[in-house]
Amino acid sequence: MSIEGLVPHRELWIGGEWHSTTKATPVMNPSTGEVLADVASCSAAEMLDAVAAASHALPAWGRTSARERAEVLRKGYELMMDRADDIATVMCLEMGKTPAEARAEVAYAAEFFRWLSELAAHEGGEFRTSPSGRILTTKRPVGVCLLVTPWNFPAAMATRKIGPALAAGCTVILKPAAETPLTALLLADLLHQAGVPRGVVNVVPTDDPGTVVAAALSDPRVRKLSFTGSTSVGRLLLKQAAEHVTRTSMELGGNAPFLVLADADVDDAIEGALLAKMRNGGQACTAANRFLVNRSLADEFTDKLRTRLSALRIGAADQSDTELGPMVSDRAVTSIKRMVSGAESHGASAERMDSGPDVGYFHPATALTHVAPDSPILQQEIFAPAAPIVVVDDDEHAVALANDTDAGLAAYVYGSLPTALGVAERLEVGMVGINRGLVSDPAAPFGGVKHSGLGREGGHEGIAEYQEISYVSATW
Ligand code: NAD
Repeated sequence: MSIEGLVPHRELWIGGEWHSTTKATPVMNPSTGEVLADVASCSAAEMLDAVAAASHALPAWGRTSARERAEVLRKGYELMMDRADDIATVMCLEMGKTPAEARAEVAYAAEFFRWLSELAAHEGGEFRTSPSGRILTTKRPVGVCLLVTPWNFPAAMATRKIGPALAAGCTVILKPAAETPLTALLLADLLHQAGVPRGVVNVVPTDDPGTVVAAALSDPRVRKLSFTGSTSVGRLLLKQAAEHVTRTSMELGGNAPFLVLADADVDDAIEGALLAKMRNGGQACTAANRFLVNRSLADEFTDKLRTRLSALRIGAADQSDTELGPMVSDRAVTSIKRMVSGAESHGASAERMDSGPDVGYFHPATALTHVAPDSPILQQEIFAPAAPIVVVDDDEHAVALANDTDAGLAAYVYGSLPTALGVAERLEVGMVGINRGLVSDPAAPFGGVKHSGLGREGGHEGIAEYQEISYVSATW
């Protein structure tokens, strides 16, 4: 696989034109540890050019009919599906996603455009009566939106924000992660072909996100920040957004518990565990971070999970039979090595499986048993293919441990439906998967509680994050 020809432009996309910069940043291929491409790096001044372009394009785009915006999004969906193999290849190369997962992400990402094209055409205002008069409401675009995305789902995290923003009539500046700018630049090209007017979507990779994002947030023309990334950076950006009382949506870190109740089907739970833990090599905000297994099933669950982890084929992301690819960076490998040895020093036993190729950023799938409930690894977002298993006495114990964290994004529960539903209601999270290891769905409201975020993306709720309700009180 080669990147040449797939992403013809490596510059900044501002105002519907490609802008080269004096500074370029290397993008690495995590399967080899080699440079894949050099990509332009946006400065604070260029970010302000992007804000100006988005601001200039806003009035005309905001006035287009909902039908027109829906047609453009629909075309965006079709072009993404036409180019699905190319987009998937770019994600394999720059992020280390396996081919099957990369194709699944393209379908998931494109679906946000289709779903929003369908919703956009049905958005309307309301006429209501109150006890004393009449109430008219309309929905307006919030304005210029700054979209900041992580590297772990380079296409879906971008479309999950661009789709609702465009559907609502907003214009956007997308700042992708420095690890994965090529997917974002390819999307810019496709959206231009889909008929998105100049300046409505701007894409500005940078290797200096702190300075560049701060510059945008200090400009009062930016009315909305939608951020997906770590809780620590989210917290910093919330403070910066306070200056101009900029609206925010925050999709932050997780620490998902995976509960196996006494009446669970262990084989089903193992299938769910592999999906919830190993999708994207564990590098997902919704990844199962802690397996809380009822004592009566613990031995069987642990043996079966270890067997399945040891059978995973680890290798370069662009090989068709790879099941576990590399981590995104050398730094990520160092971080997980430290977490696993930290767990060992707190009494856990680590079983490291096949360690993979000698070159690139690989870490073996790892089963951690005898993990004490107070082990630090249970309070950290692992973001890697390591699975700590904690034995619990009963549902009360499982729920107490599950909620013993600042994070509250996702949880998984395996058990009979009535029991699992009762447990799900007591979990302090935004999303629960019952007898399934995947919760992401463009038609569902995705988001977290506690330190995992503010607001929702997807579903009917996602578009509301980009709309202002305007109320008119009239007498007649
Ligand atoms: P990160 O917070 O390091 O980076 C996210 C984005 O913020 C990137 O675009 C990065 O360039 C930018 N950024 C970094 N420092 C910044 C700063 N000082 N000012 C402004 N912007 C800055 O996160 P990451 O490592 O790219 O992604 C992993 C994290 O994202 C995990 O915590 C994961 O849980 C979270 N995540 C959450 C969701 C969700 O929907 N809740 C989805 C995917 C990932």
